[in-house]
Amino acid sequence: MGARMTDAPALPLKLFNSLTRSLEVFEPVHPGVPGDPAKPAEARVYSCGPTVYNYPHIGNMRAYVFADTLGRTLSYKGYKLTHVINITDVGHLTDDADAGEDKLEKAAAEKAQSIWDIARHYTEAYWADVKALNIRQPAHWSIATDYVPQMIEFAKAIADRHCYELDSGLYFDTTTVADYGRLAGHDPALLKIALQISDRLRNVPSDLSDAELKTYFYSAVQDFIETVEEIRETSPAKRLHSELLDILRKLPEPASPDFTNDFMKLTERFGKFLERAEGESRIDPVDGKRHPADFAIWRKTPPTETRQMEWPSPWGMGAPGWHLECSVMSEALLGFPFDIHTGGIDHREIHHPNEIAQNQAHSCSDASGARIWMHNNFLVERSGKMSKSSGEFLRVQLLIDKGYHPLAYRLMCLQAHYRSELEFSWEGLGAALTRLKRMVMGVERLKAQHLEASSSQWSPAYPAGEWTLQKFKDAMPSGSIEANNLLQFDREISNDLGAQSAMLEIELVLGPGAKKQSASDRLNTLAAIDDVLGLQLLSLSRADLRVRPKAATITEAEIEAILTRRKEARAAKDFAASDALRDELVAAGVEVMDGDPLGWDWRLNAD
Ligand SMILES: [Zn+2]
Repeated sequence: MGARMTDAPALPLKLFNSLTRSLEVFEPVHPGVPGDPAKPAEARVYSCGPTVYNYPHIGNMRAYVFADTLGRTLSYKGYKLTHVINITDVGHLTDDADAGEDKLEKAAAEKAQSIWDIARHYTEAYWADVKALNIRQPAHWSIATDYVPQMIEFAKAIADRHCYELDSGLYFDTTTVADYGRLAGHDPALLKIALQISDRLRNVPSDLSDAELKTYFYSAVQDFIETVEEIRETSPAKRLHSELLDILRKLPEPASPDFTNDFMKLTERFGKFLERAEGESRIDPVDGKRHPADFAIWRKTPPTETRQMEWPSPWGMGAPGWHLECSVMSEALLGFPFDIHTGGIDHREIHHPNEIAQNQAHSCSDASGARIWMHNNFLVERSGKMSKSSGEFLRVQLLIDKGYHPLAYRLMCLQAHYRSELEFSWEGLGAALTRLKRMVMGVERLKAQHLEASSSQWSPAYPAGEWTLQKFKDAMPSGSIEANNLLQFDREISNDLGAQSAMLEIELVLGPGAKKQSASDRLNTLAAIDDVLGLQLLSLSRADLRVRPKAATITEAEIEAILTRRKEARAAKDFAASDALRDELVAAGVEVMDGDPLGWDWRLNAD
């Protein structure tokens, strides 16, 4: 027999910190008092929430499934979690970097509605998605407009040393803090040099012979290698410098027979590098800004306008900048510093570097505000036909309307590591739904087995939401195989939230390899795992997962009746009748998934 579960050392939780670009062991800011249940180790987490001017796209919701999985993992590891998600109802411009209009003011004008009504409507829509995806309620939903007085105080505290005033607002001078942009890995100085390289390579003196031309290019490249090496020493973005050096150093001496060929390759790679570097630092100019990366922490209402949302301040009537909001609310609710700040990878470029700059200024230190900064990658759809062409906006409600249970989308998110891109397709979502159905059927089978063996309904050792690894160890003192499934699960989830591998343990516990264990032990293992993954495996039923497509023109009972007749026809090898019945269903908006051995599966025939 294996080691007793209780003897296994608790694995440290390792998380990828975007700030250092490395895996770090989670060390709480408030470690508590070991052995004193009244003073548990804490985990304080802040997640950038939605700007409530529109329905959340399912890609946006990926960020909250990720933050929820992180929070659930911290709880399961025994930390007392305080999670904050903010609601941005003011100050987020149509461009992240201080250009364009306020997203909410714009939506309100277009819809001729009060901005407060817009904010309420979309906040509720967001909360409905949170519920549908079984994302746990955070300790606080912080609403930006509730914190405006604190935002003004914060801005006043840093204005003299770090800001300057323009007609359009109060701007943060990004050169007043150390290492601005270290999170994004940007370096304006490097971009400047890259542009100079581009100039030198393009503006070739006329009348050069072939040999002279080669020497010209070669010496230009050598000059720049030296310059890049020099500025690399002090740059916050060493990775980019290395990348550029790698491109430049590939050029052989002019006498080499490969010179022309390698030079062509260099210009191609360099062109791509420049394009990306320019894209990353593309920031719309605002008249009078001292540096392109400077940003507004307070936006004044133009004298000729009135805004629906505006407040008096030392800089006139106006509204706080989006970046300021998160610095203020995270400190107000979680203290300074707190443990983990999360957001979508797009925030790594502008929003979070700006939060960090403000935090450095306000704390008069180099502290970024959070010990660990974590970012989830994008949801992508490569076929390009996802939503736009059909005019459908890809939101959770659309998935439900098409007959997909929303937790199929949660499972789909968990199937990819949060730092990888997640590719969306309807086929992929269908496969995720099938996988979820199999899991739920497996749980139902185990429950039936338990009932048969013990003549009583199975009940978990702990209620949903209350499992921790320690409690599991206490409930399973005998050190059996199911404990090892949880140990493996623990290893995977502790390794930067490897949910995609951790989830395989569900199938192993359900599979024939776990047959020697009692149904109850297996169910308890699944309950502990599900507290982290949030798929509601123990409470969902098969019937719950059958969502009737909105476009279906017949009732669920009618669908089932036709399916039964079709099954009989197939059993009798009457394929003509079977096909006719399938056509009848398709005409009614229902697609039968013949490939699915579950048999009872149907869903909307998507376009
Ligand atoms: Zn934020």
